[in-house]
Amino acid sequence: MTLATPLAAALLPAASGIDPASCARGLYIGGEWLWPAGRASIPVIDPATEQLLAEVPDASVEDATAAVEAAAQAAAAWRSTPPRRRSEILRRCFELMMARADDLAQLIALENGKALRDARGEVAYAADFFRWNAEEAVRICGDFMPSPTGANHIIVDYEPIGVCVLITPWNFPAAMATRKIAPALAAGCTVVLKPASETPLTAYALAAVCAEAGVPPGVVNVLTTSAPGPVTAAMLADARVRKLSFTGSTQVGRVLLAEAAKHVVSCSMELGGNAPLIVFDDADLELAIEGAMLAKMRNGGEACTAANRLYVQSGLYERFAAEITARMAALKVGRGTDPGTECGPMITLAAVRKLERLVDDALSRGARLLCGGARPNLPGFFYPPTVLDGVPADAAMACEEIFGPVVALSRFETEDEAIALANATEYGLAAYVFTRDLARGLRVCRRIETGMVGLNRGLVSDPAAPFGGTKQSGLGREGGTQGVLEFLEAKYIATPL
Ligand code: NAP
Repeated sequence: MTLATPLAAALLPAASGIDPASCARGLYIGGEWLWPAGRASIPVIDPATEQLLAEVPDASVEDATAAVEAAAQAAAAWRSTPPRRRSEILRRCFELMMARADDLAQLIALENGKALRDARGEVAYAADFFRWNAEEAVRICGDFMPSPTGANHIIVDYEPIGVCVLITPWNFPAAMATRKIAPALAAGCTVVLKPASETPLTAYALAAVCAEAGVPPGVVNVLTTSAPGPVTAAMLADARVRKLSFTGSTQVGRVLLAEAAKHVVSCSMELGGNAPLIVFDDADLELAIEGAMLAKMRNGGEACTAANRLYVQSGLYERFAAEITARMAALKVGRGTDPGTECGPMITLAAVRKLERLVDDALSRGARLLCGGARPNLPGFFYPPTVLDGVPADAAMACEEIFGPVVALSRFETEDEAIALANATEYGLAAYVFTRDLARGLRVCRRIETGMVGLNRGLVSDPAAPFGGTKQSGLGREGGTQGVLEFLEAKYIATPL
C-alpha cells in the first residue's frame, strides 16, 4: 500500500495497534489541518473501555464561517471542473478507501465500538458511494422539449445547488459521510461536514483520503464542535450555504428544519426509524431467521433500519422464538476490535440506560424475558443480546427506536392485523416481510408505509438504490440515481428557436 499522507500512515496498524491520536490533527479547512489558538478539545472515548482515545478540536462559530468561506472560494473552480475529471477523483477515493479497508475498519471499530466484521462491511459500503457517484457524475442529464404552445422550446439544465452543510451521526461514521460527500461532489458542490462528536476520527480520515485522491483544497472541509446548534445556525444563516443534508434523530431533524426554514435553505433529512419485521406462517424459517438476525443485529442493533418490532404469525411463532433466542444467546459479545466479536458495546452509557429503561418497561407490561436482559458488571458500555416474548403494542419499545441488541417479539393472526401493527408508528423508514407467497409479499410491501421494504431479505442498504423514509423518517433520498438530484437545482430556460 502506498502512503502519501501522514494521516494515512497513522492509520496503519503498528505492532501496538493504531494510534488514533494522530488521526486528530485539527479541523480540516481549505485543505489545511488547523487547531486554532484558544480552541478547547472534545474527548473521543473508546466505548469498550471508557478510556480516552484522542482529542479533536472544538470548532467555534468563526471556524465554521472560515469553513464556509473555504467551500465558497473553491465552488466556482469545482463546478467548472469537467464531470469526467470529477468522476475520476471520486473513483480514486473509492480505490484509496478499499486499499486502506482494514485500517479504516480498525479505526471505526475502535471509536464506534462495532464488531470488526460490521466495520469492514461499513468500509466497503461507504467506499461504494464514491464508486457509484463517480459513475453518476458523468450522467447528469438535462432536458429539451418543444413547449406545447409551439411558441418556444423548454431547456432544463441541472446546476450544482451551492455550498452544502452535511451533518452525520455516529452509528455509520464512514458511510453516512460518503453517502453525502460523494453525490455532492459529483453534482459539482463543495461541502462542510460536521460529524458526530463520538466518532470524528473516521471523518478526518476520510478528509485525508479525499485530499490524497486529488479533491482540491476547500471542496471538502471537516469540523468538529461541542456546540452543534450555534455552529450550524451560523452556517445556515450564511447566504452562501444553499443545502443542509442531515442524518440523525427525528428530534434534531425537526430543530434543523426550523432553523433552515428561516433562510429557505434546501433540506434533505435522513431521520429515525422503527422498522417492523413481519414473518408469515408460510415463510422459509431459516431464511426468516437469517434475515431477522441481519436486520436486527447489523451494527449491534444501532442502525436506523434495525428491525425494531418483530411480528410473527401464530403458526410459526413458537419455532421462530426458540430459534432466534438460541441465535441471540450464542452471539459473542466483546470489544469491537477483537477478532471473533459479533456484538460490540453500545456507543455511550446513555444508550445502555435507554435499553435498560425500554426492557424494564416491556417486562412491566407483561413481556417475558427469553435471554439476556442483565448488564454485565464490566467497564465499557455493554448490553447483552436480549429477546423479549409477547411485547405489547403499548410498550415504549414498540414506539421508540430501541437502537441496541434487543429483539421484541409479538404474535399476529391475519395479514390485515400485521399491516395495521406495522403502520401504527410515526416513523416510515424501513420494513421487512418474509413469505413464500410472492403475490402476498408484494401486496404487503405496497401497503406498508415506509420508504424501503426488504422482501425475504434483512438488508436494504445499497448505494445503487434510493435510501430514505416517509412520515417522520425524513425527506429526500440518498443513493441510486435520486441521490445526486438532492444536490442539484433545475434551471429552466425558455427560448424560441
Ligand atoms: P443525533 O443526536 O440527531 O445527532 C446527529 C448529528 O446531529 C450529530 O452530528 C450531532 O452532533 C448533530 N446535532 C445534534 N444536535 C444538533 C443541533 N442542535 N444542531 C445541529 N446539529 C446537531 O443522532 P445520533 O444519536 O448521532 O444518531 C442516531 C440517530 O440517527 C437515530 O435516530 C437513527 O435512526 C438516525 N439515523 C438515521 C439514518 C437514516 O439514514 N435515516 C441513518 C443513521 C442514523 P453531536 O454528536 O455533536 O451531538
